[in-house]
Amino acid sequence: MKTCSSCGRQVKEYTEFMCPSCEKGAIVRCKTCRETSNPYRCAKCGFSGP
Ligand SMILES: [Zn+2]
Ligand SMILES: [Zn+2]
Repeated sequence: MKTCSSCGRQVKEYTEFMCPSCEKGAIVRCKTCRETSNPYRCAKCGFSGP
């Protein structure tokens, strides 16, 4: 289980990728947020994007 960077929920189905801005923060995005294009926010640099 991981915490989704968009909705903050504990999620089982997710994709994880590095922040496109700082490339240090891991972004976790659940299936729902991916489908609805919810914005995420990087915990390291504060970058937010779709
Ligand atoms: Zn989510
Ligand atoms: Zn970042």
